[in-house]
Amino acid sequence: MSSSNHTPVLIVGGGGMGLSAAWRVAKRGVNVRVLEQFKFLHTRGSSHTEHRIIRRTYNDDIYSRLMVDAYHYWEELEHDSGTKLMHLVGGVDFGPDNDPTLNDLIHVSHELNIPIDVMTAAEAKQRFPQFNLPANFLMTYCALNGFLAVDDCMKAKLETARKFGAVLQDEEPVLEIIPLAHGAEVRTAKATYTCDKLIVTAGPYVNKLLKQMGLDFSYTIELNQAHWFKVNNPELFQPGRFPVFIVRYDESGIGGMYGFPTFRNPGIKVSVHHSNNYLDIDKYDMQPRQNTIERVTAFMREFIPDAGEMINVGTCPYDFPNDEHFTISLHPQHKDIALANMAGHGYKFASVVGEALAELALDGKSHFDLTGFDINRFFDPSVPRRPAIHVDILRPKD
Ligand SMILES: Cc1cc2nc3c(=O)[nH]c(=O)nc-3n(C[C@H](O)[C@H](O)[C@H](O)COP(=O)(O)OP(=O)(O)OC[C@H]3O[C@@H](n4cnc5c(N)ncnc54)[C@H](O)[C@@H]3O)c2cc1C
Repeated sequence: MSSSNHTPVLIVGGGGMGLSAAWRVAKRGVNVRVLEQFKFLHTRGSSHTEHRIIRRTYNDDIYSRLMVDAYHYWEELEHDSGTKLMHLVGGVDFGPDNDPTLNDLIHVSHELNIPIDVMTAAEAKQRFPQFNLPANFLMTYCALNGFLAVDDCMKAKLETARKFGAVLQDEEPVLEIIPLAHGAEVRTAKATYTCDKLIVTAGPYVNKLLKQMGLDFSYTIELNQAHWFKVNNPELFQPGRFPVFIVRYDESGIGGMYGFPTFRNPGIKVSVHHSNNYLDIDKYDMQPRQNTIERVTAFMREFIPDAGEMINVGTCPYDFPNDEHFTISLHPQHKDIALANMAGHGYKFASVVGEALAELALDGKSHFDLTGFDINRFFDPSVPRRPAIHVDILRPKD
């Protein structure tokens, strides 16, 4: 085998997390190769469709704490790439006043001194007349929240990783991963590669690779959709006037929606966190599902009366474990392999996840608090788990 096929670090998957890890590893001056199955910046993974919410406000404090570091590394990426990535236009969460996740979010924000305003439905109407909320709803507002321009972020990671010396190879699917006593071997149709440390960030395509690494576990793959709606009074929906928003889950099925102000595409964009449309990723057809379009349209009619017809829709698959928490972890048996899967809410963390993966691979441990993100939790009941974020009633039982 050619010695040029060996790198100290090899990353499988050049999406949101993999390119971030490549940036962090290469910035340390360590040689790293990324293998991506499609063309870089493709639209068959989880990291596209115009924007991603970034927020300090979470209902589980580990995420709110980790976000401090995520903002820090996004700023560093902005500096390294010379590109504005974060658009902190403010964000609201709303839901019934007895919704446990909304109340936990308020509690965690107060505990961590995250500045939020809590409003009744009437107060919310005064401040954000774009929303029509039922009388029993509460709304929180945080000025530190907003969105990431996801396409700019992906490009910035790709270009800065390359600038720091990463070898970036696309259109090269990894067919097999073979863990070794030291490092790992990785086979593609073009070559066999070896590395001292392997980082696997395969997003919704990860399940086959897990099996090859001896991990008898799989993530549920769900179809998400981004829907752009025309609005009356477009000036009311510009960044600065219209915040990013999240509707907290409620039993009517309305909950779980989230949306963004107008950015580069016309209209406003809205998605539902759980479509309950599950995928076999090998048969992914990129076709939007009508039942999700109907659910989102019904929400818009009720909650954003200025919304008109849907003008565009895009699809995006993502992966969930049963507790909906991240995996940022070393392999249980092969300590030269690090893995990350982001449970459908991870883009905002990509900057810090890149650094955590670089630490796991190169230092054997991370200084970030990753309690509850260890892949061992799926195999060993004694490993700490976090309470599940949200378990969908309709999802397949695993
Ligand atoms: C529509 C939508 C909206 C979202 N909204 C938000 C949000 O507002 N805020 C937020 O924080 N998060 C959000 N998320 C979640 C977030 O986008 C994901 O958690 C994140 O993008 C996951 O990144 P990833 O690197 O794990 O996956 P990906 O970006 O999909 O990267 C995985 C990469 O690995 C490659 N790959 C896989 N297998 C192989 C192989 N065998 N060989 C070579 N390459 C391989 C894939 O082609 C892909 O490029 C959203 C997700 C979706 C789908």
